[in-house]
Amino acid sequence: MKRIIGMKIRWNNGIEVSNGSRVLMDAKRTVEDVPILITHAHSDHVPRDVRRSKSKLIATSITGRALKSVYRAPKELVVALDFGKEIEVGQMRITPFVAGHVPGSAMFLLEKGGRRVLYTGDVNPRGGLAVEGPADVPEADVLIIETTYGSPKFRFPNQNFVRAKIVEWALSVVSEGSIPIFSVYPLGKAQEIIALLNKTTKLKVLVTDEVARMSDICQPTFRLSYERIQALHPMVAVVKGPSSNVLVERGKTAIATGWALILRPRRVHRAFPLSSHADFDGLLEIVRRSKAKEVYTVFGFSNDFTSYLRMKLGIKAAPLTREWVTV
Ligand SMILES: [Zn+2]
Repeated sequence: MKRIIGMKIRWNNGIEVSNGSRVLMDAKRTVEDVPILITHAHSDHVPRDVRRSKSKLIATSITGRALKSVYRAPKELVVALDFGKEIEVGQMRITPFVAGHVPGSAMFLLEKGGRRVLYTGDVNPRGGLAVEGPADVPEADVLIIETTYGSPKFRFPNQNFVRAKIVEWALSVVSEGSIPIFSVYPLGKAQEIIALLNKTTKLKVLVTDEVARMSDICQPTFRLSYERIQALHPMVAVVKGPSSNVLVERGKTAIATGWALILRPRRVHRAFPLSSHADFDGLLEIVRRSKAKEVYTVFGFSNDFTSYLRMKLGIKAAPLTREWVTV
């Protein structure tokens, strides 16, 4: 009988999985002939040398399009997956599930010999207006979860209430004759703000080239309406009248991020706590829904979150380190 080799995981150039063969998830750099699973197209989850990759790059179709057209990854190496459809990689079965973080973002379920390991990537159990849905958490034996906001000090207000405040602010700035400007990440928050303004106002939405490039990639799935403008930084602005010759730099700037709970950046007119990540309670909800008996954390408040899981919930939990753990 063929012996089944168990899975081992560790943090080493991203999340390294070994089960006889190797797979990397959200790797910092590519390694020849080691397949890489990429959860989403934020730059901190894409290998820095992706242009020169000699490995397969496995991602959902929106992430795959971003890898090819924005990050210039070799087209023939990008393998596009559909949510819920499994493939075989490195002797494991791999299935992407909706992560709800940004357009195209996925969690990966890795299965071998009856063991199930789920890696969330960046995740949002509440979803948003420009994602495939809220996180669709499958059950797993072992969970590797992001903990960007893994401290109890991060509890976001009702996100629909925050959205209403954003629209109210944008309309009031326009009514003063000024221009509301959202300083945003080109992928994720940009499409969320565009979708929100499209849905709730008749205002014209203007975006810079970087935002337009990412939004174009999302367009077959999310029908967003926007026009391109030239400006220095990635932004989404809204205007009432014609968009030509708009001096957007003269408008009032806002940001929308979970960090608005604790940071008040200078030179910003408003900071809205709208997040594309799970907050502390959202992370606990994902742990519960996964029914995992063992939890490993990556990014952000790793130690705070694992202490809470161990002390309050009696779950075996630890930050993922360079030491191999057999799962
Ligand atoms: Zn992200």
